[in-house]
Amino acid sequence: MPFQPRRKTVTTLVGGVPVGSAAPVVVQSMTNTDTADPAATAAQVIALANAGSQLVRITVNTDEAAAAVPEIVQRIEDAGVSVPIIGDFHYNGHLLLVRHPECARWLAKYRINPGNVGARHRDENFRTIIRVAVEHQKPIRIGVNWGSLDQDLLTALMDENARRANPLDAKDVYMDAMLESALRSAALAEETGLRHDAIILSAKISQVQDVVACYRRLAGRCDYPLHLGLTEAGLGMKGIVATTAALACVLADGIGDTIRVSLTPRPGGDRTEEVLVAQQVLQSLGLRSFTPQVSACPGCGRTTSTFFQRMAEDIQEYLRTQMPVWRDRYPGVEEMKVAVMGCVVNGPGESKHANIGISLPGTFEEPKAPVYVDGKLRVTLKGDSIVPEFLAILDEYVADRYGDRAASAAPA
Ligand code: SF4
Repeated sequence: MPFQPRRKTVTTLVGGVPVGSAAPVVVQSMTNTDTADPAATAAQVIALANAGSQLVRITVNTDEAAAAVPEIVQRIEDAGVSVPIIGDFHYNGHLLLVRHPECARWLAKYRINPGNVGARHRDENFRTIIRVAVEHQKPIRIGVNWGSLDQDLLTALMDENARRANPLDAKDVYMDAMLESALRSAALAEETGLRHDAIILSAKISQVQDVVACYRRLAGRCDYPLHLGLTEAGLGMKGIVATTAALACVLADGIGDTIRVSLTPRPGGDRTEEVLVAQQVLQSLGLRSFTPQVSACPGCGRTTSTFFQRMAEDIQEYLRTQMPVWRDRYPGVEEMKVAVMGCVVNGPGESKHANIGISLPGTFEEPKAPVYVDGKLRVTLKGDSIVPEFLAILDEYVADRYGDRAASAAPA
């Protein structure tokens, strides 16, 4: 399926990071620490930012959490990390942002869920948050969620549907209510004084096909930047695959300006996984480049040893550990493609398509490993030190190919 050109939206600045059609799709993430614990929250924000998260959201749910925000931001800055922090508000955001003006000032954006701004005085509570945003010149995200939809609006639309001669399916009315909640809230925010380009919308659902349908409709009805995500994606492989399926379909339509992958980490698991998955989704779709990509064949009966699997893993790990240094020293290295193939069937061909590739000997093949550089056979490796010799060739290639770019880009 060919990619659609990116849909035109306005561009919203979030703490200096542009989000919108003129900018690359932004990767963001969210902490799962207690925000009232500034040390733990700042440490996790720093880890997420170092993994590549360009925006990080934190829960602001209590007075203690709101009071901790300035210290969290200060700790992050003191660590030399620059990443805008977004406050996630539900139920009491209108109270916390007014009671804690420093919190309002230090956050780069406020996320508001229109379904969770209080059962009573809903619009007035919402307006209160918007007034704080206007006063502090902050953008907001109006984040509608399937699990916490504005019940008054849903009831009104359900009643209206029941009066139709041919009522819609309840699920369609639910989706209408999500879109209406997002768009009416955006209109209310603008009526209250917020600039049109200070609003980002999201409408998150936990079913892949519904996410795709919902965002296609939302994109057709507004030019606000859209934050994409599959809510409650779940654990491990299920969460990764479901998120990728949903985001890929929407992004392929040219829809989406920032993404978050909502994985449930395993106990003690690494929160930065959601950042790496988001980057991999964008890189696999050819929308952005973050790290050199290794193409490795799956192996088969021709590769009875695990040697080539280990080698593919070692090379992937080597690239990952080199990237913090390479990223600055060798501009463009993140677009490099490396192939590690198990035998001669597809090995030479795939290796020729990569910047640099190696085709290992399969079972019963002659014990030699041809290395291809920019499509041409460079050398054939033999013996026990194929891996270190290949990595030395890789280092040399990176320095020659991407070091030159850095040198030519440097001011005279
Ligand atoms: S390249 Fe060779 S080892 Fe790898 S999957 Fe194909 S046939 Fe099997």
